[in-house]
Amino acid sequence: MLARHAGVSRFAYNQCLRLVVDALAAKRAGSDAKVPWSGFDLINAFNAWKRSESAGRLFVAAPNGTVTKQVTGLGWRHEVSAQVFEEAAVDLGRALSAYSHAKTSNRKGRRFGFPRWKRKGRCRDSFRLRNKHATGDKFLIRVGEGHPRSVTLPAIGTVRVHDDTRRLRRLLRPVAHLHPDTGQPVMMAPRARILSATVSRHGSRWYVSLNVLAPDFHAERRHLPCTAANPSGFVGIDRGVTAFAVAATADGTEVGRFESPMPLRRSILRVRRLSRRASLTKPRSRNRARATRRLSRQHARIADVRRHFLHEVSGQLVQTHDRLCLEDLAVANLMTNRRLARVIGDAAWSELARQLTYKAAWFGTELVVCDRWFASTKTCWWCGMVKQQMGLAERTFRCAGCGLVIDRDRNAAANLAAWAERSHAQAPDRQAGGRVIKAPGGEGADRRLVTVEPAPAKGEPKPMPQWHELGHPRRVLSTTSPRGRLTGFRRPGGPCWP
Ligand SMILES: [Zn+2]
Repeated sequence: MLARHAGVSRFAYNQCLRLVVDALAAKRAGSDAKVPWSGFDLINAFNAWKRSESAGRLFVAAPNGTVTKQVTGLGWRHEVSAQVFEEAAVDLGRALSAYSHAKTSNRKGRRFGFPRWKRKGRCRDSFRLRNKHATGDKFLIRVGEGHPRSVTLPAIGTVRVHDDTRRLRRLLRPVAHLHPDTGQPVMMAPRARILSATVSRHGSRWYVSLNVLAPDFHAERRHLPCTAANPSGFVGIDRGVTAFAVAATADGTEVGRFESPMPLRRSILRVRRLSRRASLTKPRSRNRARATRRLSRQHARIADVRRHFLHEVSGQLVQTHDRLCLEDLAVANLMTNRRLARVIGDAAWSELARQLTYKAAWFGTELVVCDRWFASTKTCWWCGMVKQQMGLAERTFRCAGCGLVIDRDRNAAANLAAWAERSHAQAPDRQAGGRVIKAPGGEGADRRLVTVEPAPAKGEPKPMPQWHELGHPRRVLSTTSPRGRLTGFRRPGGPCWP
């Protein structure tokens, strides 16, 4: 049933795209027919099409030889929820508007092409259903009806789910309050509302994600606003390949270090073996289907490990610190490096930034993004001297100016925190919509005098500075979960890449 809905969603998307392509071709041929472009137009165009003759017709031959034609429209359209059609049309509308926006404006970044056809086995199997009022007071999407761990979807029915739904059910329940005047219990509206449900397949499992409109967290769970009475320093986060993320304060204290589980790197041999096996099978055979299923399950597992780890890191960072500074990385540009692309993709830096951004809003954490051209890795945290060169293999930062010896990532994180302290010294005025960051030359630009290390002349021996080690970190985030179990973090000395 779920697979059928996913197929219908794909069909509706492709059919809407067909309508657009045909209308464009007709327009080029001189017709003045309107091309459906927005989601709303596409829904109307698709609805007109699905009842038309071209969607389905039936020829009835009578015994006397006369043949009559009956227009039936899309024969199976009542077997699935009509919302699947509409949401697919809305998706195509979004794709088309992104395409036309990219064409007209000179925006930077990845180019958007014309929407492509969805193909079975190639695209993500998914569909979306909106939550509407059914007859009476009931919503179409309900949670915990029949069984506590279940979700009820329109036209599909009640589906058992794996996870506990208690917290969501509590949010969706009407709340009883005592009326201040009469003292009588009054039922208030529920605190949250489900907007839509997206059902998708990853590997061989189906997932339902509910889009929920919920109130802010309770004030006790959120960070206090940063004021003069509650001063708190910034924590810089440096993302790297060797250590996934290192957090440090402006005084150089390391407050967190996260080792990535590197899920792809650890199971690449298995992925290779499975894909080789899949490619050796006969196309369209049962063996091919089974091998592909195994491979996709392995990929889904890798993605699960990565996602779990990222959620733990971002959640811990946002809940422990109330002011964070992140460097601005051009990840898409770095990914063009063939040698590094796999490692960087495995680390999922952009996803960490995305999760930090939305979770920071939940917990009231202030998140600033550092200027892209601030050389956080090459700058000495102690004296501010900027190194000319810093190779990827150099794991320790050795300053030629002051003789500082410090871990590379810790130095970068401390630099980021110090940058944020300099540029965002006062607590921001939240009423004024926050402060402008990344403004070149203006607020947020680095104004400190920077001394640049002179490049050593050829043949001249490098000066041997007297190095001093920094003290140990005061407080290190635990890398085990509250339950004391080792989670997705990589154990020292555990299985690793040869
Ligand atoms: Zn220095």
